[in-house]
Amino acid sequence: MAQILNGNDISKEIIEQLITDTAAFKAENGFVPGLAVVLVGEDPASKVYVGRKEKACQDIGFYSEKHKLSEETTQEELLAIIDQLNKNEKIHGILVQLPLPKHIDDTAVISTIAPEKDVDGFTPVNVGNMVIGDDCFLPCTPHGVMVMLRKTGIEISGKNAVVIGRSNIVGKPAAMLLLEKSATVTICHSRTKDLPAVVKEADIVVAAVGRPEMVKGDWIKPGAVVIDVGINRTEDGRLVGDCEYESCEKVAGWITPVPGGVGPMTIGMLMVNTLEGAKRTLKK
Ligand code: NAD
Repeated sequence: MAQILNGNDISKEIIEQLITDTAAFKAENGFVPGLAVVLVGEDPASKVYVGRKEKACQDIGFYSEKHKLSEETTQEELLAIIDQLNKNEKIHGILVQLPLPKHIDDTAVISTIAPEKDVDGFTPVNVGNMVIGDDCFLPCTPHGVMVMLRKTGIEISGKNAVVIGRSNIVGKPAAMLLLEKSATVTICHSRTKDLPAVVKEADIVVAAVGRPEMVKGDWIKPGAVVIDVGINRTEDGRLVGDCEYESCEKVAGWITPVPGGVGPMTIGMLMVNTLEGAKRTLKK
């Protein structure tokens, strides 16, 4: 039976530390970190995520602004709002909730966010700095994955890590961060041949696919760490990951549940980045 990596508990510790650090920051500097969240359209999952981010800001004592825009918002209107937020001194972090409606170009929008306020770590400047191992905002979900791995106490250096998924927001950056810690990294995707055989070689599996319960227990090497990033709703209404929990937990050494695994970590790391964004304004 695998040990459980409880994202709710780890994230709670992070938030509690942030409450203390934010109070100290305010006492010293006379202002609080500010996060602006921009939500375009009516995607139900996005609304839930934005609500959780707002609540975390309130719990910690950050200033927060929500910009809720209609589905019909034009790209020009959205870029103008980001431009205003870039100039707003109360705001140290800007998050544009993805996915955006189809008529809006994600890349153009993300590239407009000032890199020093890009707390999601998605702008080309932050991605580039991450790849060369320089100072940057790390993307929240992959950063959360690395914090969870650290909690296992397992040395990453020299281990075989298999990342399933190559998206810009999870798969690719997760692979880069594992490489930075000297894992031997394999990135799998929809064209990978014999995925189960590749996964079987992994000491660390990071699944970020978006396919309910795709990874089975008999794909997992005994004792491996299984980090399940996927969040999927099944036809019968259950919330499940990309890994079949029941079969994987029997073989893995460590496993993250869904829900209550990587999801809460993403929010915790966003809050860490927002405080960091506020601290950086002092160094100017
Ligand atoms: P995406 O759709 O952008 O990318 C999915 C990747 O999976 C692609 O690179 C694709 O090549 C790969 N893939 C698809 N089918 C495959 C297959 N049969 N075999 C191997 N690879 C396959 O998705 P994403 O944005 O990276 O998100 C992945 C999952 O993680 C989703 O379930 C999403 O909801 C979840 N997610 C969770 C969090 C969190 O905070 N926990 C954050 C972001 C995304």
